[in-house]
Order: sequence, then structure tokens, then C-alpha cells
Amino acid sequence: MSERSAASLSAPNDLRAFWMPFTANRQFKKAPRMLVAAEGMHYTTSDGRRILDGTAGLWCCNAGHCRPAITKAIQDQAAELDYAPAFQMGHPKAFELANRLVDIAPEGMEHAFFCNSGSEAVETALKIAIAYQRAIGQGSRTRLIGRERGYHGVNFGGISVGGIVNNRKVFGTLLTGVDHMPHTHLPGKNAFSVGQPEHGAEIADELERIVTLHDASTIAAVIVEPVAGSTGVLIPPKGYLKRLREICSKHGILLIFDEVITGFGRTGAAFAAEKYGVVPDMITCAKGITNGVIPMGAVLTTAAIHDAFMTGPENLIELFHGYTYSGTPIAAAAGIATLDTYREEGLFERAADLAPYWAEALHSLRDCPHVIDIRNEGLIGAVELEPIPGQPTARAFQAFLDAYEKGIMIRTTGDIIAMSPPLIIGKGQIDELVGTLRDVLTGLK
Ligand code: PMP
Repeated sequence: MSERSAASLSAPNDLRAFWMPFTANRQFKKAPRMLVAAEGMHYTTSDGRRILDGTAGLWCCNAGHCRPAITKAIQDQAAELDYAPAFQMGHPKAFELANRLVDIAPEGMEHAFFCNSGSEAVETALKIAIAYQRAIGQGSRTRLIGRERGYHGVNFGGISVGGIVNNRKVFGTLLTGVDHMPHTHLPGKNAFSVGQPEHGAEIADELERIVTLHDASTIAAVIVEPVAGSTGVLIPPKGYLKRLREICSKHGILLIFDEVITGFGRTGAAFAAEKYGVVPDMITCAKGITNGVIPMGAVLTTAAIHDAFMTGPENLIELFHGYTYSGTPIAAAAGIATLDTYREEGLFERAADLAPYWAEALHSLRDCPHVIDIRNEGLIGAVELEPIPGQPTARAFQAFLDAYEKGIMIRTTGDIIAMSPPLIIGKGQIDELVGTLRDVLTGLK
């Protein structure tokens, strides 16, 4: 590389080449927000300010940032075994992590298939669902059912079963044979619910209508987020998930919980399936599996699903699916160190213990200007703002910018402010986060 191009790459003001994901590129590049370091509950910005992390990165750094034990595990693994082929070869850490995941997963989840992200976990689960139905002689079951406002990552399967219009509309015809249940958001009835809303269990019955429409013999699986996160934090109404489970079981349809954000303590239990007492057939997870430090995802399955693939000749590959980095040593090492940290520090229990304090603090924002709903579960929170007519998302985005200036990290989705702090947050930091947000909301036009 020439001296000139090397210099221009390292120049902090040359921002042209990086086409940023999920970001208003032109706006950002006029006024960049650059993070250069992190520790515990805080980020440091390029202008030397400390920002209190109200989002655990992107719902992923559940144990806080730059945890020394996780860093060391990554460094040691990189020095010892950097990579092992994910093809007819194994290495100990992937097996160890799979065992550890199954140990903390709800009863019945007995196997883990590794991948590199939440999006890949979703694609993997959808493919396993269709292949499983075929393996048990139900080859006509190829349809997939998602939900309006659902978010299941950005790959073609995920945006097909997903229901966020902006994520779908410019990407063509997507997968065929997909239908969507209605979402569970009932603002008129459930606004300002603390924890699970009372109304809406019967929305699950829409699945019966869809089953009747298509016939059960054509449907492979239903996929939902137990708590819909990216679409603005929609907490499942009491009884809703149990009803979905009953309908799926009745019709031989697999139920997949996408726990990419709800996994690893976010709701106060290891997985939301445990929190809500409803066990699906597969769980997709990612993010908190490595504390967000190294990309990794996983699909957890029942023995019935796994074993259906183990019946053919022994020398044949059972499932033609996988990634170069499925269970790669450095990610596996990071995952084990992360699970150790969660366990040693009792972080899932800590989230459960802090949840009532978090709920009370959040709901104290109810009388702030523009607030039309507040929702919470575990250490998840959302504050929904009244949109400015003709300018959807503008008010919440302004809140995000103002919050960053005042030293807190929040995220927005539409006109909703979403928060999901690291599970190591203290009560004083909850007060700081919510107090600063109160100042931001009070100053909004
Ligand atoms: N599923 C859910 C429920 C998610 O929240 C996300 C990410 N926010 C994904 C899938 C996709 O994960 P990734 O960005 O790691 O691909």
C-alpha cells in the first residue's frame, strides 16, 4: 500500500469508504459519533466523553464491556488453536460450549448447532425445520409462519418471516410459502402495562385461522420473538405464548423462539422460554452468547429434531448446512468465558432482582412530554413517543442525539426509545440513565 493511501486510511476524517450498516450514512458523516474505547458500563467517545451504555451495545454486551476474563480467553485461544475446519473435524471448546449451553437452556433443549450471528441462526433454524419435517415423512410441510412486526435478522429467510415493512419492501419477492400472524401490540388496551400486558392472549388464535387456511399438512414451523425487540419492545400478553405452543403441538408444527435478544439473562432468566414457562422446539440465540465480543450464533434443538437426522447410514453427513466459522475456536472460547462470567457473577439472577427497580424508574417517565406508552420486562425497556405529524421517527431520533450529547446511549426504532443495559448496571446508574432521559424528553420539541 502506498504511503499516501495508508495515511488517508488512518486519517480519522476520511469516512468515505465504509458504507455503514443500519445508519443514515450521509447524516452520520457530517457529524460522526465515534466510539474509541469501552469498559464496564461505559463507552468513551473520540472527543473523550464517557457515555453510560443503556443498550448493552446492541442488546449483546450483557456482562458489560472489555471484561478481562473474556479478553484473556480470546487471546489464549488465538495463540493456541486459531482455527479448526468446520468440516469433518472438531475441537474441544465447541463441544464444551454446546454442553454448557444445553445445561442452561430450558428442559428439552439438548443440542446446539453453531453459526455466526442472529441472522444465520434464524436461517439455520428455518432450514432445520423444513428438513426435519421431510426426515419424519412430512415433506409437504414447507410453509413458514412469522408475525407482523417480527424481526429475525436480515437474510432472505429472516426478512421473509419477519414483518417489519422497511426491512422487506425493496428486496423483491422473498421466500414463497410464508404467512404472518398479527402482532400483539394493543396500545388502546395495554398502554403503560408493567411487565406482561393483561390483554391479547386470544391473538394467538389467529394461528388457528392460518392453519385452517393453508392446512396443517403444509406448515413446517412458526417463528416468533418471545419479546419482540427491534420492532419496539412488544411484551407478550399473558397466556399468549402458551396458546401458540398448544396450537403448534396440536397440528404438528414446530415452534421456534427467536431469543437473539432475550437469551442470556435479559428477561431475568437464562432464556425467555424459561421466564414464560413455554418450551419451544428450537431456540435461536446469538449476541450475549459471547457477550457481543466475537460474532457467534446458535440454534438449540430438542433431541427429537436432532435424532431424526441420525437414522441414515453412519458415514453420511446428516444435515448439509454449516459455515466456515461454525463453532470456531476463538468464538467458542469467548462463549465459555462469557457463560463463566454470567454464572460467577449471578448476572441472570441480578437482572431478575433489579427488574422491579428498573420498571419503577422507567414508568416514572409516564408524565414526560410526548410519552404515549412505556413497556418493560426484565432489564428491557421502551418509551414510545407521539410521532410528529408527517415526520415519523424524527422525534425519537432527536432524543437519541440529545441523549448522546448528555452522556447516555439509547437506541430508537421508529418513534420508540429502546433500552437494554448490561446486566451489571447498578441502581445509581439506572437513576442516571432514566434521569438523563427525563431531561432529554423534557427538552424535546
Ligand atoms: N433475531 C432477533 C430477534 C434480533 O433481535 C436480531 C438482531 N437484533 C437478529 C435476529 C439478527 O441478529 P444479527 O444482527 O446478529 O444477525
